[in-house]
Amino acid sequence: MEFQSYIYRKNHWLLEPDLKAILGGYWVNLHEHRGEFEDFGVLVGSEVYEVTDYVDHHAAPVLVMHDLDGHRVDRARLCPAHAELLKHLAFINRPPYEGGSWHHHFALAFLLADPGFYCSLFVTNQTAYALHKYAPEHAEIIQQLLSGDAWGATWMTETQGGSDLGANTTTAIHSDHGWLLSGENKYFASNAGLADYALVTARPEGAQPGPKGLALFLMPRERPDGSLNYHVRRYKDKIGTRAVPTGEVECHDSQAYMVGDRGKGIYYTLETLTVSRLANAIGSMGLARKAHLEALYRVRTRQAFNRPLVDHPLVRRDLTDIAVRTAAGLCLAFHAVELFDRAWTEMPPYSLVYHYARFFSHLAKNRTADHATRVTLLAMELFGGLGFLEEYAVARLHREALVAPIWEGTSNIQALDMLEVMQKKAAHESFLDEFIPMLERAGTPEAKAALGSLEQTLQDIVQQNLGEVQWYGKDYLNRFADIAQTALLYALAETNGERYAMLASLYAHRFILGEPYPSWALEDRSIWFPVELIEQSA
Ligand SMILES: Cc1cc2nc3c(=O)[nH]c(=O)nc-3n(C[C@H](O)[C@H](O)[C@H](O)COP(=O)(O)OP(=O)(O)OC[C@H]3O[C@@H](n4cnc5c(N)ncnc54)[C@H](O)[C@@H]3O)c2cc1C
Repeated sequence: MEFQSYIYRKNHWLLEPDLKAILGGYWVNLHEHRGEFEDFGVLVGSEVYEVTDYVDHHAAPVLVMHDLDGHRVDRARLCPAHAELLKHLAFINRPPYEGGSWHHHFALAFLLADPGFYCSLFVTNQTAYALHKYAPEHAEIIQQLLSGDAWGATWMTETQGGSDLGANTTTAIHSDHGWLLSGENKYFASNAGLADYALVTARPEGAQPGPKGLALFLMPRERPDGSLNYHVRRYKDKIGTRAVPTGEVECHDSQAYMVGDRGKGIYYTLETLTVSRLANAIGSMGLARKAHLEALYRVRTRQAFNRPLVDHPLVRRDLTDIAVRTAAGLCLAFHAVELFDRAWTEMPPYSLVYHYARFFSHLAKNRTADHATRVTLLAMELFGGLGFLEEYAVARLHREALVAPIWEGTSNIQALDMLEVMQKKAAHESFLDEFIPMLERAGTPEAKAALGSLEQTLQDIVQQNLGEVQWYGKDYLNRFADIAQTALLYALAETNGERYAMLASLYAHRFILGEPYPSWALEDRSIWFPVELIEQSA
């Protein structure tokens, strides 16, 4: 790996330029965990970086369908290093369930930054989440899930629709053996073959059509007599996230336990989606940062036209784009985490605090996915032809980022869900309450432009009919996110110095005003090259 990457065997926590500042504003206990983060920074820069790359290229999970006696077993065979590392990483799921915060979990996840491994870990977290909140009678299973002794999964998407969950056709019948699920349509089932327990949406007999008729079930891999409870038809051939096996699952009278109340399955499902959208946002920015760091080393060493790449103005402009998007996206993602951390113990019917956290999760999920795909692509370009080769680390980062806008609800769905929570719950009013004072405090022309954009966005939405509002839905989603990122960067400048005010100003020029980055950034290395971090570890 040392010949494929510039950041292999480096401490990715010590190299990180923004995370400590951002976490400092939200998580007062960070200082108690510095040692843990330093150790984790070593782990993610060495074993994690190497094993995730190796698994992606050479050792993706294989579906073993039969044992030697011909019985269906449908198990994932992982390469031993993969299995060992996954178990070793299971601890990152524990903090929120042990009195800690979601910031702790997500900061570790950001450093991990591998969507395949993280998917296996996070669907396990989501399974624990649903049980912890709505089926605490499964305390033993929760403990297994949180300690890496069992793996979870979340299977909602069916052949006929992932966005349209209300179209689910899997049925649930109550019998002497408890609930029995049937349906051959669970079409994107991550962790299939690995998971010991899966959260599954299904429609109980007699329930109404559409999303409100869905209930949520916990489906073990094995029946009490040890036989296989459901079948995995095949694994998908994916362009990224190869470390997590994603299969097609068939249920045939599969035994399951209902989670919580029968009529509230869709709320539980949407809650587990909200938390996974945060995971998506954090994971996206983690990938963006790995690409950023790889590019920073590259531009120092590679020469073109008799000088290092970093001395060329257009390269500085690219590095500025990467730095601005990465710092802003990280602020956005951790603010979404903060809002969720305040609200996550609520149960339906939710208060405005929860609805606002959900509103913000849509902004974060969507915009960080854009940032990650763009940043990883730009980093590839900065590597020139080598960036396009599978031999080196940077190409994979882009392949991995491409899933971010698709799973956990596409960008269209984020826009529609945001519009719904605005229309039904007025969740945007909390956004105004929070961000107008922040921008007024910043008081710069760019902050004023962000305020103007906010006013215009609300006016546009009020004046349009439903079709028009949906037509522009993604633009509104981006505008809210860009306003928030500008404000959050300015707020960070109050406690962490002028660099963040410059990043805020640059972000606003590019994404609020739609202008090129102003050229004053050309000579300011603090923006596009955190030189002390790189030189210390070079
Ligand atoms: C690697 C991977 C792993 C996955 N793992 C899981 C998993 O473990 N569990 C699980 O449940 N799912 C999983 N998924 C599925 C994923 O969540 C869905 O693919 C995603 O939600 C989109 O659903 P779909 O594929 O059915 O696309 P569709 O719903 O058919 O959408 C197709 C297009 O239509 C658009 N669209 C749909 N409805 C509307 C509308 N009303 N207005 C405007 N546009 C619309 C969408 O934005 C999209 O662009 C996984 C997907 C991938 C790629």
